[in-house]
Amino acid sequence: MKIEIAEPGIPRERVSTGAAAVVKRLQEAGYEAYLVGGCVRDLLLRRTPKDFDVATNAHPEAICAIFPRARPIGRRFRIVHVRMRAEIIEVSTFRGAGAGEDGAGASFGRPREAGATNGREREPRDAYGTIDEDAIRRDFTINALYYCPIADVLLDYCDGMADIAKRTLRLIGDPPVRYREDPVRILRAVRIAAKLDLRIHRATKAAIAPSKALLGTVSPARLFDEFCKLFLCGHGVYTFELLERQGLTEALFPLAVPPGPLLRAALESTDARLAEAKPVTPGFLLAALLWPDYLGEAAKAESLPPGKRGEAREQAALAALQRLRQTIAAPRRHTYFARDVWQLQPLLELEQPTADEAGAIIAHKRFRAAYDFLLLRADLGEVEAKLADWWTEAQIPGTDILKDLPAAPKRRRRRRVRGRGRRAALAGEAVQNAAPP
Ligand code: ATP
Ligand code: MG
Repeated sequence: MKIEIAEPGIPRERVSTGAAAVVKRLQEAGYEAYLVGGCVRDLLLRRTPKDFDVATNAHPEAICAIFPRARPIGRRFRIVHVRMRAEIIEVSTFRGAGAGEDGAGASFGRPREAGATNGREREPRDAYGTIDEDAIRRDFTINALYYCPIADVLLDYCDGMADIAKRTLRLIGDPPVRYREDPVRILRAVRIAAKLDLRIHRATKAAIAPSKALLGTVSPARLFDEFCKLFLCGHGVYTFELLERQGLTEALFPLAVPPGPLLRAALESTDARLAEAKPVTPGFLLAALLWPDYLGEAAKAESLPPGKRGEAREQAALAALQRLRQTIAAPRRHTYFARDVWQLQPLLELEQPTADEAGAIIAHKRFRAAYDFLLLRADLGEVEAKLADWWTEAQIPGTDILKDLPAAPKRRRRRRVRGRGRRAALAGEAVQNAAPP
């Protein structure tokens, strides 16, 4: 049932001018066009939207004809990115019955599985639909609100406004069916509830446990995208807690050792960095997530002759990363990052590096991340606090601490990282040679 609400209370000055301009131009060309999805929901909840999406009955070719700076994305050209000054507005055509679930995913930014299409294949004729067909294909009621910033009118097809008022996240339709169609909706439920501090509706929540095994059918590349959205949103700690409460962490992370305090500490630090608008990277979280698994694998290295340890640690890193790959496939630059952070740890733990070694460690491109990682380990008592303090001081420009170091290695070391492994890691050689998954 359609409800039309005039002046729904959206602060219009907070609507992006680019998005409003896109809606206006589409309407002037005779099409229906609305802001939709997360931006409308966030504005109603008095949050700042991450981005602005537009839905329209104009087909992609028509959208491209109207906006010279439009670029179709997705292999079946369903979504169009329209550039408005510095902004990129995602414009999608209303989906119809023939959009199918595979198509639905694709049009919601889900990468199409290899082999599912021959690339330039056209849409089935009924892939596009009317606004009311589009509404019921969306995931949650509060994500299916359409807002016209020109007329200041909101269209509600799925009782989304009632759920906004109740701060409730509720799937449209029958939850088990909607999760079966697209299991990523399970993670979206947790993520959106955590981000906006919403209550998950009873039936939407109840269907999570029986559906969670379906996450195993989602492509690992898509799950990596979702991993980033879950944990790099600024509410990583709380999101992880909700995932645990819903029993989802095992389905997501098939690890030998379940994620523990180190991941929590890394999430806390990521949330804090995001709050200060500092850069964050998924590689750091991967390093924390898999650290206990890596240590388990790397324990074997300690019993080997010093010259063989570097290689064994490399294998340990590969094994830990490979295990995660069953569910989550991170691009190489992130897995390299995690591996480098791990491999720098024994070097940071050298009892007394030589001046050259300390200089090379500090100059390593992953030193800063490895140092941050060491701080977390020190907080958890895994290494002594004075070790972390030493490296903190070593970074102060002009510090005397480095001048006092011996020129040649001393005999007694906390960790005996020597020979090829030690030199190779210092030179960053491992970074170029090995290829983690
Ligand atoms: P965020 O604030 O993270 O951007 P969002 O709800 O806008 O949250 P998007 O991934 O940008 O999330 O998706 C935009 C809209 O597309 C959603 O609000 C929802 O209406 C629809 N959507 C996205 N993913 C799905 C899905 N898997 N199934 C059904 N509808 C979806
Ligand atoms: Mg969005």
